[in-house]
Amino acid sequence: MKSLLLLIVLLYTSGSVQAQEKKVEFSTFQLSDTVYMLKGQGGNVGISAGEDGLYIIDDQVRPVTAQLLQALRKISDKPIRFVINTHYHADHTGGNETIGKAGAVIIAHDNNRKRMSTEQVSNFTKQTTPPYAKAALPVVTFNDQLSLHLNGETATAYYVANGHTDGDVIIHFPVSNVIHMGDMYFNTIYPYVDLDAGGSIQGMVRAANLALALANDTTRIIPGHGPLAVTEDLRAYRDFLVKAIGNVQVLIGEGKNLEQIIAARPTAEWDEEMGKAWITPAQFVTFIYSSLKGIHRYTLPISAPG
Ligand SMILES: [Zn+2]
Repeated sequence: MKSLLLLIVLLYTSGSVQAQEKKVEFSTFQLSDTVYMLKGQGGNVGISAGEDGLYIIDDQVRPVTAQLLQALRKISDKPIRFVINTHYHADHTGGNETIGKAGAVIIAHDNNRKRMSTEQVSNFTKQTTPPYAKAALPVVTFNDQLSLHLNGETATAYYVANGHTDGDVIIHFPVSNVIHMGDMYFNTIYPYVDLDAGGSIQGMVRAANLALALANDTTRIIPGHGPLAVTEDLRAYRDFLVKAIGNVQVLIGEGKNLEQIIAARPTAEWDEEMGKAWITPAQFVTFIYSSLKGIHRYTLPISAPG
């Protein structure tokens, strides 16, 4: 868990950590004849490799791009034709520039290109991310959904508004029976809701519900962070989100303010298990409270821990 914390801290500050190459352990999991999950440094990568070539979902942090490409070469020696970005965060788009320059077409939701083209300020990470280089920007963007007809199946990217950010997509591989959730799903830790980038906890629930509607009992779920999951894990995560939101809603109904709600520990039953590796209970409660109140800016009360 400690290494996960370190990793994530690095990921979300990686906008400024671009220079040095870092040696990272990469591991690959084959999920079907053509679909793989790859873990290295950054968001989990989804891969489709087959007769039509290679395309990937997300491309990790920038300093590990060379190692990512090496790991992909072990799966297929064909060129990377497409990169789908699940959202704009630097730990999911760090390889864009190199891979884009090498000829891959980068695909993302309209809002991601807008965010990647302009300076982004996060009140949560207290980081300012400058606009991406032109070669790193998506050249194909879409609004609602988009399908890729390659490697024996039609994989579809579905936009789910205002979840982790305002530009997240989840990708369904119906033949391989795999869903890539991007950061709409943090498996085993409290999720990060990027309020400053249009995120909301309600969108996280919508994404889980959409994925559950697409899934069956044997679907494998690739989370943005954390270990590979199955449908049952995602269902438990959705139920946890709904219950946590309900707990905060009750306290809001009692007229309590954010500081009082954090003090009442509405997420106490999950804090030990999910609140230690990165997002703290106070931060998670702030995400829920702000979402329910329609506050689109991350602000933690001064007195709150973390
Ligand atoms: Zn993210």
